[in-house]
Amino acid sequence: MSQTVYPFGGNAKSDDPRAKDKTIVGGKGANLAEMAEIGLPVPPGFTITTEECLDYLEHGADPSTELRAGFAEKLRHDVTSALGHIEATVGKRLGDKDDPLLVSVRSGAAISMPGMMDTVLNLGLNDETVEGLAQVSGDERFAWDSYRRFIQMYSDVVLGIDHGLFEEALEIAKEDKDLYADTEMSAEEWKELVAEYKQIAADERGGEPFPQDVTEQLWGAIRAVFDSWDSERAKIYRRLNDIPHDMGTAVNVQAMVFGNMGDTSATGVAFTRDPATGEKSYYGEFLINAQGEDVVAGIRTPQYLTKAAREAAGADKPSMEEAMPEAYAELARVFDLLEQHYRDMQDIEFTVERGHLWMLQTRTGKRTAKAALKLAVDMADEGLIDEKTAILRVDPMALDQLLHPTLDPDAPRDVLTTGLPASPGAAAGKIVLDADTAEQWAGRGESVILVRVETSPEDIHGMHAATGILTARGGMTSHAAVVARGMGRPCVSGASAVVIDRAKRLLKIGSRDLKEGDLITLDGAKGQVMAGEVATIEPELAGDFGTLMEWADKHRRMRVRTNAETPNDCRMARQFGAEGIGLCRTEHMFFDAGRISAVREMILADDENGRRAALDKLLPEQRKDFHEIFEVMKGLSCTIRLLDPPLHEFLPHGDAEFEDLAATTGHSVEHLKRRAGELHEFNPMLGHRGCRLGITYPEIYEMQARAIFEAACDVKAASGEAPLPEVMIPLVVTRRELEILRALVERVAGDVFGEKGTVVDYLVGTMIELPRAALMAGEIAEEARFFSFGTNDLTQTTLGVSRDDASRFLGPYVDRGIFARDPFVSLDIDGVGQLVTMAAERGRATRGDIKLGICGEHGGDPASIRFCEETGLDYVSASPYRVPIARLAAAQASLGK
Ligand code: ADP
Ligand code: MG
Ligand code: MG
Repeated sequence: MSQTVYPFGGNAKSDDPRAKDKTIVGGKGANLAEMAEIGLPVPPGFTITTEECLDYLEHGADPSTELRAGFAEKLRHDVTSALGHIEATVGKRLGDKDDPLLVSVRSGAAISMPGMMDTVLNLGLNDETVEGLAQVSGDERFAWDSYRRFIQMYSDVVLGIDHGLFEEALEIAKEDKDLYADTEMSAEEWKELVAEYKQIAADERGGEPFPQDVTEQLWGAIRAVFDSWDSERAKIYRRLNDIPHDMGTAVNVQAMVFGNMGDTSATGVAFTRDPATGEKSYYGEFLINAQGEDVVAGIRTPQYLTKAAREAAGADKPSMEEAMPEAYAELARVFDLLEQHYRDMQDIEFTVERGHLWMLQTRTGKRTAKAALKLAVDMADEGLIDEKTAILRVDPMALDQLLHPTLDPDAPRDVLTTGLPASPGAAAGKIVLDADTAEQWAGRGESVILVRVETSPEDIHGMHAATGILTARGGMTSHAAVVARGMGRPCVSGASAVVIDRAKRLLKIGSRDLKEGDLITLDGAKGQVMAGEVATIEPELAGDFGTLMEWADKHRRMRVRTNAETPNDCRMARQFGAEGIGLCRTEHMFFDAGRISAVREMILADDENGRRAALDKLLPEQRKDFHEIFEVMKGLSCTIRLLDPPLHEFLPHGDAEFEDLAATTGHSVEHLKRRAGELHEFNPMLGHRGCRLGITYPEIYEMQARAIFEAACDVKAASGEAPLPEVMIPLVVTRRELEILRALVERVAGDVFGEKGTVVDYLVGTMIELPRAALMAGEIAEEARFFSFGTNDLTQTTLGVSRDDASRFLGPYVDRGIFARDPFVSLDIDGVGQLVTMAAERGRATRGDIKLGICGEHGGDPASIRFCEETGLDYVSASPYRVPIARLAAAQASLGK
């Protein structure tokens, strides 16, 4: 039968791997045992396993003979003998009225849940032992201070008495005596307060006195810690942090050491390095003559650990380095030992008892993204960890915080309101109230913030033009939030204090009135909206970031490309390390304000001749687009998708647009409206789109292919280096579609190369974005040199879920565990993943060297990237700001294999 209890400290030493298994003895217990074994000063104690907690929670209420007061007989026996270990080590006995042992009873689960569960200190005190403690310590004040602390904590944690009652009594006592701090209370005054405390406890328990039996105290505390696993706040914390509910907590019973024994004693918390910046400097706080959580409870202002930190803060109370130089030197030695041992930054709790340092806890310290990066790089440089470990240490998603310009922390802020931190980064600009205005103003070089009640797909061009987005409604996964994150635009959503008057072009935020054109600043990481322009600082792409990226690049197999369609986005993506374009959506060029009328003229034309005339106007424009992009991307693969969206989306809307078009085309408004009516579709996303356009109106794809090849030849002629265009035909479901359109592209390529007297390498391939395409991938590969998995549409069509309409039910679906995650954010590996795997296999079976990549938004999601690595794809493609995330995630996926 396995052990129910594991002793630590003193001469306890266990070869049983369970003694340091966090799932058995909890994180606190495992680390206490480990610290004791490497020779650090740890008060002796023992840990009751999480298994006993689960057993108690399941059977505790069962009055069967084997259980006494809810505890198994074996556990009672084992705890008693482990208590013997503490007593022997310390040389004191629990309940001894002359020289009592006191213990703490501490919770500690496998995954740390700071402050969520309960702890009792100074257990073992009663009316008799308090006198003994006063005697042996020679410090009466300390003894009664400890007793009053114990009564309050035990009453709160075990007896369920409101701790406010005790705090009130203490406040009144201090006021009566004109005292300011607890430390000014004398022994006599504590003694009086203890009498009052016992009275409060008895009153609250219907006359039953505060428990004097120390064994009863111990079991009461153990039971309370077990129960605290199932407390409401612990359950909520677990739900929010994805921690399973069936792990249970361990209980640590440990000899007390005292930070409240006068001015040579203290208690503190510390990090071995700065958890905010990652700087290699000890970081922490301590309080002289205090106990346990006094430091964090805010009773007194804590003091700094180091002289440097105290001076930097301009504080006058001495640092630990100054006030307790010997204990501080010992602490510094322990810091180094802990880092050498755990090879990571540690978060610790310590106590100094009469000049002697004791360690009470250590765990891996939580850190900001910036600190995570610096710690990983520094520790690798110091030889504490290797490069691979450094790569695995940093959460790729955390990089997001570091890639956007941030507000200068020292600049003053005039905060108007706070909404949701929907997309990180800082943006300052003029308020604009609609997407068209945003585009116009941005077009003349101004920074604008698009302010909307909420955004819709029609606002995309305005969102793209804006430097930041603010919405009055909508949550963290609203349209605005999702699109803004994809574009790398800072966004504050759901700022309900924002009231928009579009007719008057005015804005009210709380009591402040603003006009369109007024300057505001957004802090997307905090959700703040500020008046005026707050100074920003640019992200640091060199330094630690650059170093870690370099290491990641060395260890990844997959290439990382970007989804981009403007030269600016391409340049940005190159700076972030993109190695080509995975998806260039040519329709974004068609929606451009200056071209849309030619596009409309083309689609509303009565015949091929009419269409060709309009396409002739578009050709030079489109060629110019590709030229600029290829300049940035020369030498690299560029996947260009030919026109994909339903023609329906380009139709004119109001009368004004029809009239404009009538004026440019010479057709009557009635004629144009009739044509538009003919083109209207009921379900455009499954309608006349993708390669179906290329089959029915081949002249459109001809124009686009021509623009691509002419631009590629021109860039080659001008710079000596060509890009590698990969012409991608969308929405293919049969081999024949691709055969026809490939022939078309090859014919145009041949024509252009003949005219230009030069050639460039290129490939023709397809997107796999419909289930039939995945099924038929073997045949389709006969015509395709590459597959790019369009996992957005593949998810929509495999699940039968329209992404634009999913917001109403996706939230509840994820909350209720029907989907583990939003399938548009993280690939549905179980379902959609099967299609990807199958298509990859079938494609490779037909064409061994077929290039495989992913261009859906999943290409920037670490879990999906891991799947791509396992499936053996050649590259992933992500929006520019996600490129570094993808580089790191790809390296982690390679290393994880
Ligand atoms: P939490 O998990 O909420 O931090 P802990 O069990 O770590 O709870 O204990 C709360 C506080 O009591 C900590 O500051 C800890 O250092 C202190 N403490 C716990 N056990 C002892 C002990 N045996 N002697 C002195 N202080 C202790
Ligand atoms: Mg703790
Ligand atoms: Mg698609």
